[in-house]
Amino acid sequence: MRLQSKKAIVTGGAGGIGRATCLALAAEGAAVVVVDLDAEAAEAVAAEVRDRGATAIAVPADVSSETDIERVVATAVEQLGGVDIVFNNAGIIRRTTAPETTVEEWDRVFGVNVRAIFLMCKHVVPIMAAAGGGSIVNTGSGWGLKGGGQAISYCASKGAVVNMTRALAIDHGPQGIRVNSVNPGDVDTAMLREEARQLGQVESGFLAEAADRPLQRMGRPEEIAQAVVWLASDESSYVTGAAIVVDGGGIA
Ligand code: NAD
Repeated sequence: MRLQSKKAIVTGGAGGIGRATCLALAAEGAAVVVVDLDAEAAEAVAAEVRDRGATAIAVPADVSSETDIERVVATAVEQLGGVDIVFNNAGIIRRTTAPETTVEEWDRVFGVNVRAIFLMCKHVVPIMAAAGGGSIVNTGSGWGLKGGGQAISYCASKGAVVNMTRALAIDHGPQGIRVNSVNPGDVDTAMLREEARQLGQVESGFLAEAADRPLQRMGRPEEIAQAVVWLASDESSYVTGAAIVVDGGGIA
């Protein structure tokens, strides 16, 4: 097992990509802290991990809140004994243009998608550094590397995720901490259906369009999870500051 005795925090752990990653990290031997705004769903994922014989605890939290992030990190340290891996993955999308976006919506998207990563790193980096290192993986998006329509706040926030990942990698490489982003293309999760709803589009048509890429299908959450496991493990020991694209060739 590639992550034997490692301790991991996964935010957005109750969602499509987050849940798959909690299960994949645990399958490689990691103990997992499942963090999500949805307390019931987070507990269900933690229970699913435990049912498979691994260690998991659920911590309900709003990742945009510093108090909540401090509580998450403290819980990991107290109950698991440290933090070796963080998957900053919680995210939200608003499918609107600039004139259609309220200032509150803009701030909320940045609070969840960007500030949360800053807050987590602010509180977890000293712990990882004291332990000799760690691996942080941030969820960007294809839309952090190219533009997309009717998603101004989301595109801006994911561009920030990709570049803050590089800045974090530069600052904390000397402390043995690797920081990378995983950038999914359209993955079959609740978020895609939410986008169809926000745009007022028929779900089946929206999903068919999402599959329009070289591999001719949407991604599965498990396929993103495997990239995260690799970035979390020593198999990627010389990889930091990278933007790994997992998108069926969409960007290509
Ligand atoms: P999802 O909606 O299934 O999961 C997102 C999870 O984040 C949910 O469980 C939600 O409760 C949680 N969350 C939202 N706000 C939160 C907050 N303030 N605090 C804590 N948890 C919060 O969506 P997903 O597709 O699994 O998305 C995971 C990540 O992948 C997101 O960052 C998203 O932007 C990114 N992404 C997804 C796709 C895709 O096609 N699905 C593509 C590119 C990037």
